[in-house]
Amino acid sequence: MSKPRVNLYEIPKSVNQKKRIENALELLDLGGMQESFNNLAQRFIRDNSTIYDFLEGLLEKELLCKEEYRLQNWIKQAGFPWKKTLDDFDFKFQPGLNEKHIRELASCRFIEEAENVAFFGPPGVGKTHLAVALGLEAIHKGYSVRFITLEKLLDKIEKLNVSGKDLLFRFFAALLRPKLLILDEMDLHEASNEASDFLFKLLANRYEKGSLIFTSNKPFSAWEVLFKNKVRTETILDRIVQHCTTIQIEGESYRLKDKIKWTASTPKLDSRAQMN
Ligand code: ADP
Ligand code: MG
Repeated sequence: MSKPRVNLYEIPKSVNQKKRIENALELLDLGGMQESFNNLAQRFIRDNSTIYDFLEGLLEKELLCKEEYRLQNWIKQAGFPWKKTLDDFDFKFQPGLNEKHIRELASCRFIEEAENVAFFGPPGVGKTHLAVALGLEAIHKGYSVRFITLEKLLDKIEKLNVSGKDLLFRFFAALLRPKLLILDEMDLHEASNEASDFLFKLLANRYEKGSLIFTSNKPFSAWEVLFKNKVRTETILDRIVQHCTTIQIEGESYRLKDKIKWTASTPKLDSRAQMN
C-alpha cells in the first residue's frame, strides 16, 4: 500500500517530548529512527557517548530500514516467479556446470559492462533458477531488474496493442529501463508482426545500454521464427552475441531427480512382488 501524501509539515504539539519526536519522525517518514531513537538515546546516556555517535547510530538505523524497504520493493517489482538464490542451487547435481563461473557472474560485473548471459539446456536443469538467482544478486547490488517469460511478453503485447498505443509504449519503456532484463523461456514462439517488431526494437534499443539474461532450450538460430526473417534475426543476434556469456547445461532434470531415484529402485520392488 502506498503511503498517504503529507499535506502539512507541522511541528508536533504534544505535551510529551518523546511523543513529539515520534510524531515528527513519522511525519518525515523516518521509520527506522522512529523505532530506535528511544533505545539509542538510553544507550547514549548510559555509555556517556558523544552526540555524534548518537546521530550516527540513528542514521544507520534509518539507512538499514530504507535499504530493507528498497530490497522488498525492487524484488516485488522485478516479477520473479520465486525467490531462489545461488545458495539454494545444488551444484553437485549439475557437475558439468562451472560453479566458479556462475559465482563470477554473481559479482554482476557483466551488468556494469552491459553484457548478456544466455542459459541453454533441456527442461528442468536449473536455467530459470540461475537466472532468478543472478537477478536477486543484481538487486542486492543496486541494479534494477525485470523478469518476464517470452510467452507472457508476447501475450501482453497482443493485449496492449488492442487497448491503445500509449499503454504499449509505457510497457516498452518499462522493459527498456531496468539495468537487467531477464527473458525466460526464449523457446520457439510464433509472434504477430507487432510483437515481433516490439521485441526487435526492444533488444536493439537495449544494446550496450543494459544487460539481458536469456534462458532457452533451443539454440539462438531458432529465433528466426520470432523475428520473421533471416536478416532481422542476424541483425539482432549480431548485437546480442557480441557481448554474451553462453552457458550450456547438459545434465539431468532436477524436477525428475526423485522420479529417477524411484525408477532405479522399482526393479527390486518388482522382483519382490514376483516372489510373493
Ligand atoms: P529450467 O528453467 O531449466 O527448466 P528450473 O530452473 O525451472 O529449470 O528448475 C526446475 C526446478 O528445479 C526449480 O524449482 C528449481 O529451483 C529446481 N532446480 C533445478 N536445478 C536445481 C539444482 N541444481 N539445485 C536445486 N534446485 C534445482
Ligand atoms: Mg525455465
